[in-house]
Amino acid sequence: MTDRRFDVVLVGAGAVGLAGALAFSRAGFATCLVGPAPERRDGRTAALLETSLAFLRGLGVGSVLEATSQPLRTLRLVDDTESLFRPPPVEFRAAEIGLDAFGRNIENAALVELLVDAVRRDARILWLPEFAAGLSGEDFSAVRLRDGSSVAGALVVAADGRKSRLRDEAGLEASETRHPQVALTTILGHEREHGDVSTEFHTGSGPFTLVPLPGRRSSLVWVNRPPVAERLVALPDAELASAIEARSHRILGRMRIDGPRGIVPLSTVRVPRLHRGRLALAGEAAHAVPPIGAQGLNLGFADVEALLDLAMVARSGGADIGSPALFSRYQRARLRDVQVRTAAIHGLNRALLSGLLPLDMARGFGLGLLARVGPLRRAVMRAGLGTARFSGTGSAARSRSASGG
Ligand SMILES: Cc1cc2nc3c(=O)[nH]c(=O)nc-3n(C[C@H](O)[C@H](O)[C@H](O)COP(=O)(O)OP(=O)(O)OC[C@H]3O[C@@H](n4cnc5c(N)ncnc54)[C@H](O)[C@@H]3O)c2cc1C
Repeated sequence: MTDRRFDVVLVGAGAVGLAGALAFSRAGFATCLVGPAPERRDGRTAALLETSLAFLRGLGVGSVLEATSQPLRTLRLVDDTESLFRPPPVEFRAAEIGLDAFGRNIENAALVELLVDAVRRDARILWLPEFAAGLSGEDFSAVRLRDGSSVAGALVVAADGRKSRLRDEAGLEASETRHPQVALTTILGHEREHGDVSTEFHTGSGPFTLVPLPGRRSSLVWVNRPPVAERLVALPDAELASAIEARSHRILGRMRIDGPRGIVPLSTVRVPRLHRGRLALAGEAAHAVPPIGAQGLNLGFADVEALLDLAMVARSGGADIGSPALFSRYQRARLRDVQVRTAAIHGLNRALLSGLLPLDMARGFGLGLLARVGPLRRAVMRAGLGTARFSGTGSAARSRSASGG
């Protein structure tokens, strides 16, 4: 069957694919999105940093986002290990670096829902809510559908998740490191106000993190050894809530389970090459990191922003938006950022798990320094905020186009 042709075809309707489709469409590119709307509800939330929020506001979903998410104004790290070198808790306050908040926390399902609504309302996007059957064309410029037809793009973006089929079909290598932990996720209602504070207890089996949601609610990411997490997740609501209450030293008072729960295995996926032919990888198809330090989706949004920026620069110069030159700039812009953040996440996780005295001392010493030394703390806060966005000349043009569209 004849190909239908677009400027951009995105595969995967997760948060990255949906936001990418909106961004390209609003910038005036003929856009097709392939993939069913996600149904996953596992209690996971996304802490979105200011750079991601600005990107989403540019897509016209700012007011719904504000209404369904909660600002993160303070990040508190508490050493809850058995270490001999336990430093006092460290608090990072956004106000210390002149910000109102570090970002906002939103339930993943709510974020996907608001993006789905926005894509449905954008009549310029052709959304085919089905799984792609694969790639075709020597330059991977077309996406095959189940009925044998295909959709072709000058640029094809694989946003089909960590097990990306398109990545494999294009022969782009990916290596997965499995960690000896899983994350138990759920949503909690609690007695006390969270005060917009996210608290991360560092334990010997990984971080246990409470992140504020609207009202007296918080999300939980409890990184733990699989047998412990599996026992916990099978508990009735009241027993799970009291186990969480006890682990959190009751800082938020009495708790109840107030949403779905899930268990996610922890692994890291590294992909050294992010493109081949006309195909570029974005989101978890390009990199997956454990849920420590709230980086994953923020990196995914930065990917699509970088691709869009480059495509806008190419278009304004009359150049091809799926050219090797554009892709090597994409690779340079994104790979370093992803590598640095992946290394930081691994470093922290290893230090918690190792139980080795030198690593334990270094971690305790590091946290102690952060608690005492203001300039160091502020530098770490700025680095963690991930301002490493691609700064091509497309940004300004895109914002204009997005707000007008
Ligand atoms: C417990 C936990 C907490 C987290 N917390 C944070 C956080 O605080 N901040 C943060 O930034 N990140 C966080 N993350 C990471 C974040 O959830 C992920 O990075 C993000 O959801 C990945 O989005 P994605 O769109 O790339 O992939 P996915 O959400 O996996 O979407 C991929 C989509 O592609 C579809 N698909 C697959 N194959 C095909 C095909 N052949 N055709 C069409 N569609 C296909 C899938 O069905 C799916 O809908 C967390 C992750 C976990 C596990």
